[in-house]
Amino acid sequence: MEFAGVIVDVKAPAVDRLFHYRVPPPLRPTLEIGHRVLVPFGRRRVEGYVIEFTDSAAVSEDKIRDIDRVLDPQPVLDQSSLATAHWMACYYQGFLAQALQHFLPPGTRYGRERAKAKTQLTVEICPGLDAEQMLCQLSPQAHRQRELLSCLMKHGNPMPVQKLLAETGAGHSSLSTLEKKGFVRKRAVPIERKLQWAADEVKTVQLTDEQQSVIQRAWCEWEQGKNRPVLLHGVTGSGKTEVYLRLLERILRQDRQAIVLIPEIALTPQTVGRFRGRFGDSIAVLHSGLSWGERYDQWHKIRAGQVSVAIGARSAIFAPFQRLGLIIIDEEHETTYKQEEGSLKYHARDTAIVRAQQTGAHVVLGSATPSLESYQKAVRGEYLLSELSHRVEHRAMPRLITVDMREEFMRGNRHMFSRLLKQRLQANLDAGHQSIVFLNRRGFASFMLCRQCGHVLECPNCKVSLTQHRTGQINRLSCHYCGLSEQVPQHCPQCQSTYLRAFGSGTQQAEAALRELFPSARLVRMDADTTRRKGSHQKLLDTFRCGDADILIGTQMIAKGLDFPMVTLVGVLSADLSLNFPDFRAGERTFQLLTQVSGRSGRGAHPGDVVVQCYEPNHHVIEAVKRGNFRSFFRREIRFRREAGYPPEQRLSRVLCSGPEEGVIDHCRTLQQWFQTHCPSIEVVGPSAAPLERIKGRYRWHLLLRYGSQERLPARISQYWPVPPPQVSVSVDVEPLLLL
Ligand code: ADP
Ligand code: ZN
Ligand code: ZN
Repeated sequence: MEFAGVIVDVKAPAVDRLFHYRVPPPLRPTLEIGHRVLVPFGRRRVEGYVIEFTDSAAVSEDKIRDIDRVLDPQPVLDQSSLATAHWMACYYQGFLAQALQHFLPPGTRYGRERAKAKTQLTVEICPGLDAEQMLCQLSPQAHRQRELLSCLMKHGNPMPVQKLLAETGAGHSSLSTLEKKGFVRKRAVPIERKLQWAADEVKTVQLTDEQQSVIQRAWCEWEQGKNRPVLLHGVTGSGKTEVYLRLLERILRQDRQAIVLIPEIALTPQTVGRFRGRFGDSIAVLHSGLSWGERYDQWHKIRAGQVSVAIGARSAIFAPFQRLGLIIIDEEHETTYKQEEGSLKYHARDTAIVRAQQTGAHVVLGSATPSLESYQKAVRGEYLLSELSHRVEHRAMPRLITVDMREEFMRGNRHMFSRLLKQRLQANLDAGHQSIVFLNRRGFASFMLCRQCGHVLECPNCKVSLTQHRTGQINRLSCHYCGLSEQVPQHCPQCQSTYLRAFGSGTQQAEAALRELFPSARLVRMDADTTRRKGSHQKLLDTFRCGDADILIGTQMIAKGLDFPMVTLVGVLSADLSLNFPDFRAGERTFQLLTQVSGRSGRGAHPGDVVVQCYEPNHHVIEAVKRGNFRSFFRREIRFRREAGYPPEQRLSRVLCSGPEEGVIDHCRTLQQWFQTHCPSIEVVGPSAAPLERIKGRYRWHLLLRYGSQERLPARISQYWPVPPPQVSVSVDVEPLLLL
């Protein structure tokens, strides 16, 4: 192993390959594959990852350079993470260095370190010394020193310096004296940044027959050595989490480890609470809501094998377990599992399946509303389909009642709440039950329009309408894409009239309306605006959970996962919002959203209702939600996808160019021609302006690539296709879930 093949942490097409370095003899005994090293690269020093060893290098003797040093005591990557990263880079059109980033300890990138081990200064009695004897040696007047010693003897040895001084009231000088006498010594010891999580009390439940059989079938399949992912399709409240917990217990008994992915960090406290109740401290948590230091500590605990279960959002799929046995993906249909930003837009579910293949782990995908992609695979037998079709304890599914808002309007009710929903909310307040009001739009009003000339106030940078937000009596307009915030103008910028009016209600307005309707009701609003601060999610949810609020108002943030037994009414203010969204998945999204939000109702002893306000109450999606019939929805939707050539029947990816208008359109055309010549089996749609045509002043045009479900984009396209002009940037999103 004279030479090492290294991937360097430089992201450019030409550098996306192995570079050979000489391993200096002193490093040879300890250097392993997966080690992070520092290497010279051009005139810089960069971080690199050892991928292989060879006896001959592809570089001449005089040109080859030495590895500088090793960055961590142990390798940070293993064979399975290398293989998974390799797959990610190929499949999602990224560089291997980008894919590898995800597997590294958080916040430790060379030159950009953001985290390191936290240490605490402690003091202890020097080993081998007899404390009693030392006390005798001290003069009787040395009160402080005596107290310090006694405190160490009584309350713990070693002890943090700060704590010792606080408990004894002694000063640093007394401690130094003891140190100089050789009685005690100070040491910095690593400490963990503890996360504060509640542990729920353990509810021991008797599994239902359905739960039992789901577990049996999965386990049988696994024991027979078949390892298809299991798709657990269980209606809301059917006890999917209990199934996860039991499977986890079995895996842990085999001394293997597990990852649990949840779609949203807002749900972590609740999920962690349930898992901690069962598995105690054997749990790590990984998500972007933690500080770099906290993530660093959690990563190392996992790596060191001190915990057996990692729970988290998307990124937890990279938890560095060495004996991974099970990956659970709750709410597998959620779009948050797809990384939409950054340069490697991976899907955590698909990545999980690959990682599981690499490690021999099993995969369980759970949902009340599986994605069409997964359900189709299950129907075809690629996944094992398991179903929970009843709620636990024979609880009824919520009853869904639609309100035709056209009729409301004709009867003279122009309020955002229908008469029925008002009545139901009142009745629920009277009964002392809780309610949830759902509206998938934050802010006060979604756009402002001039009633004289029809001008809509838009963000000058992003070409989307500005949303009105109200703080106390102050109205501001803000852009949800770039964050611009400005005062509401007095006059229309186009015709100078004073008839600017707000249209389209958001959660803020819903809250104001509820306050007016039910002055004594206690309200909690949960959306991106009220949950900016760390911990605010949990605070709001806790308020509602403990019964200190009657009505919870919120965006899709409250649609899923929450388990509040006292909620017996869910009101959906405008189902049309998502039904009419310009996206081929609008029907699927609406089905998911309505089913999920309905599922928050009637989870306890009392049955629940759902009131859905809508302009198209007979829409087939709403009908399917009402009947709770996923299969009929699936059949109809898959037919539409087949006829229209959309996923999962065909694959759809997009190439997005952004920059100055002309350059962007020209480059899109160039790429289109390139595809036609070089990839004749890919159908290119466009170029066209992306739905968000301009963000932060940059124009956005895209090409959609459509190809067969068995086909793939050629790996590393960007190494072959025409290089964009300097101001234009190009990104590829393989199988995007949102096309904005
Ligand atoms: P889902 O995730 O399918 O919506 P949960 O796993 O949240 O459902 O379960 C709903 C509630 O039912 C939870 O409070 C859970 O503790 C409880 N539960 C789960 N399984 C059983 C069971 N077999 N018997 C009684 N209660 C159960
Ligand atoms: Zn005007
Ligand atoms: Zn903007």
